[in-house]
Formats: sequence, C-alpha cells, structure tokens
Amino acid sequence: MAGVKLEGVAKHFKGAVAVAEFNLDIKDGEFLVLVGPSGCGKSTTLRMVAGLEEPTYGRIMIGNKDVTKLEPKDRDIAMVFQDYALYPHMNVYHNLAFGLKLRKMPKNEIEERVKMAAEILSISHLLERYPRQLSGGQRQRVALGRAIVRNPQVFLMDEPLSNLDAKLRVQMRAELVKLQRRLKTTTIYVTHDQTEAMTMGDRIVVMKDGHIQQVGTPEEIYHEPANLFVADFVGSPSMNFLEGELCTEEGCTWFKAQGIRVNLRNNLNLAELNENKVVLGIRPEDVYLHRPFQDKVCEELLCQTELIEDLGSEKIVFLKIEGQELQARLRDGAAPVTVGGNTPAYLNLNKVHLFRKSTGKKIL
Ligand code: ATP
Repeated sequence: MAGVKLEGVAKHFKGAVAVAEFNLDIKDGEFLVLVGPSGCGKSTTLRMVAGLEEPTYGRIMIGNKDVTKLEPKDRDIAMVFQDYALYPHMNVYHNLAFGLKLRKMPKNEIEERVKMAAEILSISHLLERYPRQLSGGQRQRVALGRAIVRNPQVFLMDEPLSNLDAKLRVQMRAELVKLQRRLKTTTIYVTHDQTEAMTMGDRIVVMKDGHIQQVGTPEEIYHEPANLFVADFVGSPSMNFLEGELCTEEGCTWFKAQGIRVNLRNNLNLAELNENKVVLGIRPEDVYLHRPFQDKVCEELLCQTELIEDLGSEKIVFLKIEGQELQARLRDGAAPVTVGGNTPAYLNLNKVHLFRKSTGKKIL
C-alpha cells in the first residue's frame, strides 16, 4: 500500500483554472474526502490522480513513484464511478473478473480473488446474474467489487453513492467505511455532500473555485472552520451569521450591530486587525432559549420567535433580531417555546466564531 502526494498540481482548461495549486500529502491507509459545491474542481483533481487528466503543472506521487506521466493502467489504482460502468452483457462474475483477465492473471487466482471480493461484499449469491437483474445497491457493490479484486494501492471514488436512494445511501456509507477500515487501502473519495464527507473521511479537503479552503479532520472542519465559506458549507442547519462591527469598551472587545451587543470577553487588537466590519458565527446548537447552567458564559439577546420546525428528536427555532436571523436547535426535552412572542436567546460565548467581512477569513 502507499500514500499519495500532490505537489503544486494545477489544471487549466483553455486558460480557465479548474484546479489551482493543490498541495496535499495523503497518508497510507487514509480515507480522504474531497468535498465542495459543483464545479469546485474535485473531480478534476481525482481524475488527475487517476491519470485520466494530465496536470498543467505539478507532480503526483503514489508511494515513492512519480506517476505524473504514467498511463492510468500503470498507476496501480482502481476507480469507482457514479454510474458504476458495469458491462451489461457480462454476468457479475465476469464483470468482476474482466480487469484481471486483461492483466493475464492465471484463472485459479482470478477465481480466488472474485470469490473473496464477493464474500466481503455479500454478493456471492449474485455471481450468475446480469447487471439488469440487480438493484441499485447490488450494482453499486459489484462496482466496488471490481475495484477490490484488483487489490490496488489506491481507491479513487467519484460520488459512488449518488445514484442510490437516501436510505440505501446512508447504509452503503457505513458499509463502505467499514470495508475501507478492513482493507486499509488509501482512498480518495469525491462528494458534494457535506454529511457524507463528515461521516466518512479521516480527513476532509473543502474546495471552492479550484482552491483548497481547508484541510482537516471532521472535528476540526466543524469546530474550527478556517473561513466563512467552510463555516457555512458544513453543518445542517448551517451556522448562524450576524453582521456587525467590533469596538473596544471597558478593556473588552464588543461585537455590535443594530440592537445587538455581544461582549466577546476578549481583548482583540483592533488596530492590528485593520478592519472592524465582521461576521459573527454561532452554530444553532450553541444558541439556547433558556438560561443555561452557570458554567456556560453566555450573552443574552432578546429575539422574536418566527417559526418552529419539529424534527421529532429536536426542534429548530427560527428567531429574528433587528432584521437579522438566528436559528436555535433544541434537543428533545427542552421546555417548549411559542411562535410569535419575544424570547431571550443565549449565545454560548465559548462557541462564537468571528470572521472578517471583507475576506471571510477567521479572526476568532
Ligand atoms: P461536480 O460536482 O459538478 O462534478 P466538480 O467539483 O467535480 O463538480 P470539476 O468537474 O472538477 O468540478 O470541474 C471544475 C471546473 O473545470 C468546472 O468549471 C468545469 O466546467 C471545468 N471543466 C471540467 N472538465 C473540463 C473540460 N474537459 N474542459 C473544460 N472545462 C472543464
């Protein structure tokens, strides 16, 4: 097995930058997820690692080998696509065996590998069937099986679950992670779905407009977003954002907007910041509607309750304060609130994020 290294890798299409300088060291055995909105360059990045797209600049290493100029078949990778790309005229056995036959592997070894992959994926009973006789989930497994039999150094997966219905997707998500942990094969996985990224990746790369926005574990990405884009992209419902200004009073830094004053219990050097227009971010679960226990340092804001979404195990309460919106996530058991009234909202100051308005970069 091997890690993958991208060094200054970029891709330009007729002068347009699809992927800007991309530097990343993916560890041996790691499950790395590339995530971002449509067109951010994640598939192009994956295709460059696969050898399906030639980088305009940079170098790609798999293990200690420079593969930048190698054909896909010489890179020791296996790719799983969104549409599975199964051969319709071959049964499952031959779909699994085909790549190995091309490599002129002895018949008994092919049989052994196909059997083992089929067992791992619980599709041994489907080997005689043709793709048209399989459900979406079963086809997906066969596509994975074709990657597994190759026993490659790296799996490359481009939205492999996106054609499955929501329930099956969640189930396959967990199965895929278990499978990867078992095989310990370095995996690069592309998705536009932040939940998939958060639940599957050892590390996540968040991309936008061809640029890496942040690389980190799911915890780091969620709790310490590097900028407004990442803060907004990850989490459902998304982080709340209030626009305002910073000022210093009584030796403390305050966030102020019309009708809102938040003592940040911090002393930021505003001269050094060189900008006082900011966006304050706080996740819905860090906004409480009832005075929390004393160990939580909170700021109280008086809000209007506009709407309550009851999701069964939790409620999302939509609040308004001086034209700005705020959502609070209430766990089951929290005392009820009513729509249309005024309610105090308590912001947990240990969980407040602060970003520059101009660039979106994190301040706090
Ligand atoms: P999606 O989730 O929609 O697949 P993505 O994040 O994978 O998006 P890419 O497919 O990598 O994005 O595309 C990145 C950018 O490069 C887009 O602006 C796209 O239009 C452009 N692009 C991709 N392939 C080509 C190509 N062969 N020729 C020209 N432009 C391309």
